[in-house]
Amino acid sequence: MQTKIFPVSPESLAEAKKIIFDGGVIGMPTETVYGLGGNAFDDSAVKRIFEVKGRPNDNPLIAHVHTDYDLAKIIDYDPPYAKKLREAFLPGPLTLVYPSTGKVSPYVSCGLNTLAVRVPSHKGAQAFLREVDIPIVAPSANISKHVSPTSAAHVYEDFEGKIPLILDGGECEGGIESTVCDVTGDIPVVLRPGLITCEMIAQVVGDCAQYVPDLHSGEKVKSPGLLYKHYSPRCQTALFAAAETAEAVAYCAEQSSLGKKVAILCEDGAKSAFAGYEILNLGSSENEMAARLYSLLREAEKRCDVLVAIEPKKTDGVMIGVLNRLRKACVSVDIPHK
Ligand code: AMP
Ligand code: MG
Repeated sequence: MQTKIFPVSPESLAEAKKIIFDGGVIGMPTETVYGLGGNAFDDSAVKRIFEVKGRPNDNPLIAHVHTDYDLAKIIDYDPPYAKKLREAFLPGPLTLVYPSTGKVSPYVSCGLNTLAVRVPSHKGAQAFLREVDIPIVAPSANISKHVSPTSAAHVYEDFEGKIPLILDGGECEGGIESTVCDVTGDIPVVLRPGLITCEMIAQVVGDCAQYVPDLHSGEKVKSPGLLYKHYSPRCQTALFAAAETAEAVAYCAEQSSLGKKVAILCEDGAKSAFAGYEILNLGSSENEMAARLYSLLREAEKRCDVLVAIEPKKTDGVMIGVLNRLRKACVSVDIPHK
């Protein structure tokens, strides 16, 4: 199969629509990362997404809809605080998890009794969702565990020959996946951190909890995708805390002496300690670091044998999401899929 990359236009949207209603999947832009989109009502399209990504079948998908889509078509329970969150943050990088009504394919939620719904703000994503006027499931358009894509070229790297079309909407501005927030209980609970932080949510509705899965208690995990090694570049990785500069410098010297090409991923303020090494500069502000993280992880696998990542100093706000991705990308121990 030939994989075409087209900018978003009336012609490419018509082609995308045809592919979707024929049961196919396409690459699509959003403001966070690129997604692999398919018809949420179509069992075989949803199954195809899992297959083509190599995604474990206990890792649920998010249904994406346009701003005027009638949510009552796919959910019924909607607490007043969820409405406030939609008014404050949507369209945008916030996914809300509602009790499921069983309207979309059962494969979307992988047996959970909930459905995650998102309204992306990206203009191209909105145009595509309006064109099809159905919920589109769109997990990040990367082979499972690989780095999430923030450009059409990244999607092409992973899916050339496997999908017919990628809608090119430019580079993603957000850079990390949406905040996933459960709205099935009395207060919102953030399941996956992102650009919309717990504090921002609490400011709007008065309260918000951050879910921390307890990996040792045998508790059934609320959002299974959170656990895995993920987002990983295809090279050796090592991660150091912000205060471990000396250890990181020693590690770089050791790896270089073994003949390996070393690159350093760090915030702008930390780079001076690593003179002589290739620097993949995350920048300075938290939004800049979120936007650059994935493309730098993809650069790393092209440019070096060993990626040495130094955690930025700031650890709150948006950095909770950035550190969550960075740590998973660089862990050496994987938690096996079921
Ligand atoms: P991705 O689209 O690749 O960013 O993955 C979507 C993520 O959303 C999954 O890994 C889950 O963590 C989360 N998710 C999707 N649906 C649900 C749901 N029904 N309940 C909880 N988390 C969900
Ligand atoms: Mg993903």
